[in-house]
Amino acid sequence: MTDTQSTPPELISIGGRGVWEPQSGQLLDQVVVVQGDRILGLEATHPENARIIDLGNQIIAPGLIDAHTHILLHGNIGAEEARYQLMEEYPAHRIAHAVQALRIALDHGFTTIRDLGSEGVGYADIALRDAVDEGVIDGPRVLAAGPALSSTGTYPVLHYRPDWVFPSGVQVVDGVDACRRAVREQISYGADWIKVYTNAGAGRQLNADGYIDSAPNWTADELAAIVDEAHMRGRRVAAHATSDVGVRMAVEAGADSIEHGYSIRPDVARLMAERGVFLCPTVLAADHVVEHRAKERGPIWSSVLEVQQRSIHNCLEAGVKLVFGTDVGGFPWTKHNQAEELRFLENAGVPRAEILRGLTTHAAELLELQGEIGAVQTGSSADIIAVTGDPRSDLGVFEQLGFVMHRGRIIRATTEGA
Ligand SMILES: [Zn+2]
Repeated sequence: MTDTQSTPPELISIGGRGVWEPQSGQLLDQVVVVQGDRILGLEATHPENARIIDLGNQIIAPGLIDAHTHILLHGNIGAEEARYQLMEEYPAHRIAHAVQALRIALDHGFTTIRDLGSEGVGYADIALRDAVDEGVIDGPRVLAAGPALSSTGTYPVLHYRPDWVFPSGVQVVDGVDACRRAVREQISYGADWIKVYTNAGAGRQLNADGYIDSAPNWTADELAAIVDEAHMRGRRVAAHATSDVGVRMAVEAGADSIEHGYSIRPDVARLMAERGVFLCPTVLAADHVVEHRAKERGPIWSSVLEVQQRSIHNCLEAGVKLVFGTDVGGFPWTKHNQAEELRFLENAGVPRAEILRGLTTHAAELLELQGEIGAVQTGSSADIIAVTGDPRSDLGVFEQLGFVMHRGRIIRATTEGA
């Protein structure tokens, strides 16, 4: 708890090997002056009246952004993990796991997350977001989507006794009017984003041209209604889309980001670029589930990584902006550091500079928080990390942070003076 009586917050001046600026890729030979939860400015030397944090040889960078998380999941490799969390685990237990997840995200330097679907715990993500903002629990800035939307028969749990009512991992809606009403309802309960599943699973077949087709979850009218209603109320739409039709219909309906995007043909990639739709590939999460799902759901899953890589390249070629997102929760929060996704992206052939923009400036743009997050700059939120080594030549540096500050509060510091 901070003392907010009458004295102004102390000045904190953070110095190291330099400040990495993601936009230009330059390393600025400056120190960062913080007051309260704001970055006051970048200076040549430490101000006299400031508390100095000397990070030695570490490079100062903006707090990281994970644009696709699930704080309310702790593993979703297949049907059994989904069934357990939906049907057996008490909501309070899941929320306790989520509190741990929020702390883990912050410890890993992720000072902003976009949480895309509470997976059967209603608006718990919204409540947790507010608890973080009030300082009740530790956590990053959360942009929360609430329960997410899908249509009848397209999202777990499924195929249980038809004469019993079972919980669902999403809010199930059908028909244009119901779609509009559901978006209004979710926004009234505090949703920052609308998450929609535009196709189910990875589809059923790999076509001769190397892409995946499936049935869509919605009619074009239903999807257009969801997007229109969300945009009318100042909210953006994230579309879980893993097959050609899922991506194509989401883009045509006006969705703002494509999540996973396993199968994106070149013409769809060009349409995404034209309309400014972001791609949030989640390669680590896909890698985590493909083997299990190939056994459980069908051999199409054995092709997902290869098709996804092709799709990412189509997007890069077309000029689609990539954003960094991990789908953490799909794999256990305690199993991988989210920053490992950086290496997966690099192995998939994404240029390092593009990956770094996806982690910072592009993510801030998607979240409509430019000037607030994604860069260490005057006036922005004091979300600051420090890494040992140069991020421009080694993305692995983000897996070992020496320093994390969120909204001006020091979360971790391993160096003297901090
Ligand atoms: Zn997800």
